[in-house]
Amino acid sequence: MVREPFNLVLDEVRDIAPGVKHFAFEREDGDELKFIPGQFVQILFGTSESPVRRSYSIASRPGIERTVDVAVSAVVDGFATDRFWAMKPGDTVKALGPFGRLVLRDEPATRYLLVATGTGVTPYRAMLPDIARRLDESSQDISLMLGVRTRADLLYGDEFIAFAEEQPRFRFTAHYSRGLPDDAQPWEKQGYVQHAFDGEGLNPETDVVYLCGNPNMIDEAMLWLTGRGFTAQRVRREKYISGS
Ligand SMILES: Cc1cc2nc3c(=O)[nH]c(=O)nc-3n(C[C@H](O)[C@H](O)[C@H](O)COP(=O)(O)OP(=O)(O)OC[C@H]3O[C@@H](n4cnc5c(N)ncnc54)[C@H](O)[C@@H]3O)c2cc1C
Repeated sequence: MVREPFNLVLDEVRDIAPGVKHFAFEREDGDELKFIPGQFVQILFGTSESPVRRSYSIASRPGIERTVDVAVSAVVDGFATDRFWAMKPGDTVKALGPFGRLVLRDEPATRYLLVATGTGVTPYRAMLPDIARRLDESSQDISLMLGVRTRADLLYGDEFIAFAEEQPRFRFTAHYSRGLPDDAQPWEKQGYVQHAFDGEGLNPETDVVYLCGNPNMIDEAMLWLTGRGFTAQRVRREKYISGS
């Protein structure tokens, strides 16, 4: 399928964690971007003859935001980072997409485990309206496990906590690699997110695991899962590798 780039106009930018910004774009042509929650867009920088491409998962929740939202984590001297950090509302960028297969499917899974580090949680934010529908219509359980350094790095944490309070079969846990706060809540855990799998009672016959974000987390998690009998069909991955 041939895809044509489209222009996105920056509507709003805000800090959501140290070194992480949330960008809300509108399509310049006024159309709503059709995408399946979990997919990503490519942002094209530089000239149209030799653009530099960077991929960003779409964070917008269909039915809640009409904008194309992304969360960008700063990389020191990063090509795209420098350009994102210089953007002001009204600025335009070229984009391509949507792309990607990290999407929820219709399948007889008993439980979905959605695992992320940092901005890798944005595809799951986009899935929240779909997840709410699934929880209403099926008996599936869905757990979201987010790994970040500290509580301050917990992007969209309030939204996930509120969602978990509304939805009894949705569980949210935050995993801090740099230590728990003194007033840690039951949903806050110490350690790397992939090291918490042991306590999850995962079943390779009935559960499906999604992994998104840091490539090291995904490789380590994959080793653990395949060692417990998970086949490739039961694990879906999106590595936030650098470059185009
Ligand atoms: C499918 C997909 C979806 C993605 N979604 C997101 C998203 O939603 N949010 C997001 O912030 N990023 C996401 N990424 C990563 C993103 O595409 C860029 O790679 C990232 O923003 C860095 O780009 P840059 O041009 O600023 O850095 P570059 O100029 O590419 O890198 C500069 C230097 O930093 C190193 N580097 C690059 N990235 C990292 C990193 N993450 N950690 C440590 N060192 C790094 C590079 O190796 C290089 O040495 C995604 C990647 C993929 C493949």
